[in-house]
Amino acid sequence: MQKPIVLCFSGADPCGGAGIQADIEAIASMRCHATTITTALTVQNSQGVTDFTVIPDEQLRAQSQAIIDDMPIAAIKTGMLANRAIVATIADIVATQPNIPLVVDPVISANTGANLSAPGFANSLRQQLLPVATIITPNLPELYQLAPDSKDITEACRQIANTGCEYVLVTGTHDIAQDRGAAVAGEHNEEVVNRLYQHGKLIDTQRWPRLPGEYHGSGCTLASALAALLARGHDMVTATRHAQDYTWHSLASAARLGQGQYHPDRFFWATSGWLSE
Ligand code: PLP
Repeated sequence: MQKPIVLCFSGADPCGGAGIQADIEAIASMRCHATTITTALTVQNSQGVTDFTVIPDEQLRAQSQAIIDDMPIAAIKTGMLANRAIVATIADIVATQPNIPLVVDPVISANTGANLSAPGFANSLRQQLLPVATIITPNLPELYQLAPDSKDITEACRQIANTGCEYVLVTGTHDIAQDRGAAVAGEHNEEVVNRLYQHGKLIDTQRWPRLPGEYHGSGCTLASALAALLARGHDMVTATRHAQDYTWHSLASAARLGQGQYHPDRFFWATSGWLSE
């Protein structure tokens, strides 16, 4: 099989933990090739994001066209899109690539709490990008920002399904105290529970031991690995399970390279071979 190509739209993280850098490592680990359109340049380290600058619209369009004209795209992944104008541009670009799986990681803020998007961003994601998306991968706070008047996870996923986005993978990395409904009754914080919804119906529940610590770029890792596994032709249940398994192992091998969050080791699998210490 020729290496499948994944087209990513993400922010650049100079500390090499999240965004484009995470995408490239996760996608390469799945034996796929990452092509990367940088949507924003962030100022950050492992302790937090302090600023970002967005890339002009003409650049995003020209870079995307250059890739699309040259390579067969097997899947698309979006991460940090920062504002309504970028969402509109990316929605335009992906509409030229119908029938290609589109994985949307709804990056609204960093998990350190810093904002990575402008006001009204969740609204424009819902209105403009979700109608052309195959799957979105929100954690609970992101889910409720995308479906603000829903009373529980199921209703929120139904609302998202109504936009046209077939699948929702609700990740359980949040504290379950943030849930609004009864859907998590009986759950406890020692486990991370991911739920996969299709057309608003729960079709798979995936449980993982919760790892201690804070990690940089875990959501980016999951969404990129998922896009790559879809590019390789896996069905959605298999792809979401493998992507979470890969993410879990990357986090379990993470190292504290700076003074804040841990960096996942996305090449944890390359433990032996020709490279010596
Ligand atoms: N994209 C960029 C460029 C970021 O800087 C961050 C977080 O800092 C994210 C995405 C989201 O990261 P995470 O996967 O930790 O939610």
